Amino acid sequence: MRFTPFSYCERYGMRLQRLTLDGAFTCPNRDGTLGTGGCTFCDNAAFHPAYTRGKTIAEQLEAGIEFHSQRGRKAEGYLAYFQAFSNTYAPLSVLKERYEAALSHPLVKGLVIGTRPDCVDAEKLDYLTALQKGGAIVEVEYGIESVFDETLRRVHRGHSFACTEKAIRETAERNIPVGGHVILGLPGETREMLLREAEVLSALPLTSLKFHQLQIIKGTQMEKEFTEKPEDFLRLGPDEYIDLLVDILERLRPDMAIGRIASSVPPAFTDAPWGLLKHEELLRRMEARMEERDTRQGIKCSL
Ligand code: SF4
Repeated sequence: MRFTPFSYCERYGMRLQRLTLDGAFTCPNRDGTLGTGGCTFCDNAAFHPAYTRGKTIAEQLEAGIEFHSQRGRKAEGYLAYFQAFSNTYAPLSVLKERYEAALSHPLVKGLVIGTRPDCVDAEKLDYLTALQKGGAIVEVEYGIESVFDETLRRVHRGHSFACTEKAIRETAERNIPVGGHVILGLPGETREMLLREAEVLSALPLTSLKFHQLQIIKGTQMEKEFTEKPEDFLRLGPDEYIDLLVDILERLRPDMAIGRIASSVPPAFTDAPWGLLKHEELLRRMEARMEERDTRQGIKCSL
């Protein structure tokens, strides 16, 4: 392998499957605290698997286990993945109730919590540390999206990069593995900026990263902006995107595990410029391109 793929087997010595849950949380960028329109690219409906709809956490876990086992995915345990919206955006008592409902399932070994960096504080992180000390696997994934404040402002993110950096450092200091999500191709960002971004990300105590190509989801503010000013967007085809990714990986710390290199949402939600290209196929093409360029993750990382 010319890059470091994310692997639960390596990290925890067992085959773990994530079960995506809807914990019925909301988001300060949607409930009026910071705004009501959300980030300009966001349509959370695009990220809910069908098995989560209208069910309790216990029911979602059962449905998720059934869903994965029907597809022949063998797991020694499951991680409850609180993915939709901001999953630490509630009082601690509510977090405890929802997380512990998931952890009470005998096959659930731990939690993966996706959230905004401005939705954690010392009290919540200390609680997660206590869960971890009690034997649960706990990981936090932050929506970083961009390291550039001008981009974060433009997409109405509602927090700065300094806020992201603080949350990542405070989580990592507690020995909680920290993942990050980054979107490649947000308006105003150039190829050079994205290469600089890789260097900034490398210097953070992140254990893993997921990359997503910007997908213009129908009905979002981003779609409107794209229609009005397409020249502000770095729209890349799959091959150009792979070349950009290889350039980014060269600048990333070699130990930073790569969880995803692109996202997929149902075609009904997006302009689907890549058709239905599967993630596995993109990974295969990226490996082949790295081979061709005789390069690997971290080769240009100066840390
Ligand atoms: S992307 Fe996340 S933070 Fe932004 S509006 Fe959607 S749920 Fe909220």
